[in-house]
Amino acid sequence: HYQPKVRFDGQVAGLEALVRWVHPERGRVPPDDFIAIAESSGLMPHLTEYVLEMALAQVARWRSQGLMVPVAVNVSPRDVHTPGFAGAVAARLARHGVPAGSLQLEITEHVLLEDPQRAADTLAGLTGHGVKMSLDDFGTGYSSLVHLRRLPVSELKIDRSFVARLAVDTEDGEIVRCTVDLAHSLGLLVVAEGVEDDETWERLRDLGCDAVQGWLVAAAMPPHEATAWLLARGERGWQRPAELEAQRARELAVERAREQSGQVVQ
Ligand code: C2E
Ligand code: MG
Ligand code: MG
Repeated sequence: HYQPKVRFDGQVAGLEALVRWVHPERGRVPPDDFIAIAESSGLMPHLTEYVLEMALAQVARWRSQGLMVPVAVNVSPRDVHTPGFAGAVAARLARHGVPAGSLQLEITEHVLLEDPQRAADTLAGLTGHGVKMSLDDFGTGYSSLVHLRRLPVSELKIDRSFVARLAVDTEDGEIVRCTVDLAHSLGLLVVAEGVEDDETWERLRDLGCDAVQGWLVAAAMPPHEATAWLLARGERGWQRPAELEAQRARELAVERAREQSGQVVQ
């Protein structure tokens, strides 16, 4: 599935590929359940290959339709530590005829827990090919300023646990404010995850965040729905339902005023 990330002017910054598994007997299995098992059982590199393959094929299809949107793929620490990972990604991009700038890889700070030097080499290899890196789930786990300095990322994603309570919890608001300022001073873009309502969207805009992702914009969608969503955005980009309503009300008021003034003239 694909979930859009949009900027505050409505432009689509990209889409994140999120794997979905519908088991014949168990039904939908949440990624949080099976990703951890794939990771510990050694199956993760196969799963990542599959997601990369699907995502790059989709990017190529979108590009052929004139939809030039980058796609972000989540990669796990295990992938980053697999020998030859950076070269394999570059070869896959070439095979699909997709420019490296259309692919973003989302990593977490966990990549630095084991053999930080090897992780740094792989990440440098990827950015050397032109692939952009994004630091996912920032603010949870092992977040530290040292990690931020050591990882060649161009984007930071604030974890939804901070974003969710932004409108009601002043401390979370302060954490987000500091994170945005810190990221900007390091030259990084900031994306907020899990934005579900207008109030949160407005707070994030006022705090200077660059883009948002969340159910307010759209949930993760299967490819055909994501394509329709992208095509429907057109030149105006995404507009908040609240803004659309206000705009419709304004247009209606203008129409009524015109009708009334027309009646007066008659
Ligand atoms: P993530 O990369 O941080 O992805 C964001 C998660 O937040 C997704 O859950 C998404 O569906 C959910 N989300 C998006 N907007 C909202 C919102 O407004 N409210 C709430 N409450 N949730 C929202 P999902 O798809 O269940 O994925 C969970 C995690 O599983 C991901 O977190 C990521 O760490 C992992 N994952 C998913 N797909 C892949 C994959 O292809 N490869 C790897 N390595 N990990 C994956
Ligand atoms: Mg992610
Ligand atoms: Mg995340």
